Amino acid sequence: MVRTKVVIVGAGFGGLAAARALRNTSASVVLIDRTNHHLFEPLLYQVATSVLTTGQIATPIRGILRRQKNTTVILGEVTGVDKDKKCVFLSDADRENVPIPYDYLVLATGVTQSYFGHNEFAQYAPGLKTLVDAVIVRNKVLQAFEQAEAEEDPSRHRDLLTFILVGAGPTGVEMAAALAVLVRTALKSEFRRIDPVTARILLVDMAPRILPTFSKDLSEAANKRLQDLGVEIRLGHSVDLIDADGIIVAGERIFSKTVIWTAGVAPSPAGKWLSADTDRAGRVRVQPDLTVPGHPEISVVGDTASLDQNGKPLPGVAQVALQQGRYAGKLIHSRIVGGPTPKPFKYFDKGNMAVVGKGFAVLQTGKIHLSGFLAWLAWAAVHLQFLATSSLRVTVFVQWVWTYVTGQRGSRLIVNDYGSNQGTRSADAPLGVTAASK
Ligand SMILES: Cc1cc2nc3c(=O)[nH]c(=O)nc-3n(C[C@H](O)[C@H](O)[C@H](O)COP(=O)(O)OP(=O)(O)OC[C@H]3O[C@@H](n4cnc5c(N)ncnc54)[C@H](O)[C@@H]3O)c2cc1C
Repeated sequence: MVRTKVVIVGAGFGGLAAARALRNTSASVVLIDRTNHHLFEPLLYQVATSVLTTGQIATPIRGILRRQKNTTVILGEVTGVDKDKKCVFLSDADRENVPIPYDYLVLATGVTQSYFGHNEFAQYAPGLKTLVDAVIVRNKVLQAFEQAEAEEDPSRHRDLLTFILVGAGPTGVEMAAALAVLVRTALKSEFRRIDPVTARILLVDMAPRILPTFSKDLSEAANKRLQDLGVEIRLGHSVDLIDADGIIVAGERIFSKTVIWTAGVAPSPAGKWLSADTDRAGRVRVQPDLTVPGHPEISVVGDTASLDQNGKPLPGVAQVALQQGRYAGKLIHSRIVGGPTPKPFKYFDKGNMAVVGKGFAVLQTGKIHLSGFLAWLAWAAVHLQFLATSSLRVTVFVQWVWTYVTGQRGSRLIVNDYGSNQGTRSADAPLGVTAASK
């Protein structure tokens, strides 16, 4: 019997959910990702601020699917789609543009960092989207304290101990609060020449308020909490310049050696591969059954898809991707077995959460608006529940309890490469560039 071949590109929340929805079917599933791991992006900031290790928020994809016999995992980057020949093109370590045929295709390739047309900012302000990004940011933050401790000239401490987050959405807010807690706990008593508590942490955004996707009262609660933690908030102005000396915002130069980009994202090139209609942000406009118009065999899910519900576009959050991935898997199964057509996709909004430092979160679900410790407990429970494996749930839970009680962190390692007679290459330097040659 010839088995129907389903190719899924991307093993994030959407792609993994689609693969899992096809586990008890006759389909032969090929799941392709350019990394070998499924990443739990909502906790990236905890790696960047040393709470968790990389292995606590990412799991090998083939490990997650080891019991799913109908699914083959391929490590490689998809570079295009031929809709007529029904194949995707895959490049890996030693081959380019190898065609991989499909009967059904699910594109779940997420988003990438966007500097709103200012790609020159990228070299000074790393973003937070991948595991490598998180290690780069962690290196940068920890390195700043080390440099300040080594610096005899106290007038240079101010720049080294100023940390700027550009973008006051959930990632910027969570990161700013976590940094403020880091300097008050784990780092507090370990330095002799500097006092980490004097670090200046700034959150900058052009929007009039932080957490704009939350209600006004929750945004204000988070704002107050950040101020209590000593975070400075600058709103209403976009950043004009980011360079090696810091930023310029509203005409003012703020000196800093650590600027982190927590602002924009841009969709993957899926729209271009398909030559499909996209929204203004570049996300593929899909039909209510998540397929591409004119191509019932191609579904697009998660951050890279655009679908309106109740007159508004669905947000780029994990729940949307998970529910859409599951739906796409079920739709394909139903088509393979000739079953009834599923009802159009409907997103069930379970709510929105952001954590603002130790023991404090904001939570919005329906008419419920909650801030404080209870919201934080709910945040912790939900995040544990959605980690990919039981072993991660256990280790993350134990680490959180340990960090909560002792203030100690899971990993405060600066990971540099000391190549033989090449000087030091830090994770944030491009390959082949050593610290000595920079
Ligand atoms: C720092 C951060 C914090 C977040 N916090 C929250 C939160 O608290 N709550 C929440 O709900 N959402 C949060 N999100 C958003 C959430 O993570 C995304 O909405 C979700 O991951 C989208 O799932 P996805 O499957 O569409 O894409 P992703 O999970 O991003 O997965 C895309 C996958 O596709 C792979 N891929 C991409 N291009 C290719 C290619 N060409 N070839 C092969 N593979 C490819 C990638 O490697 C990746 O594995 C956060 C995101 C970030 C970055």
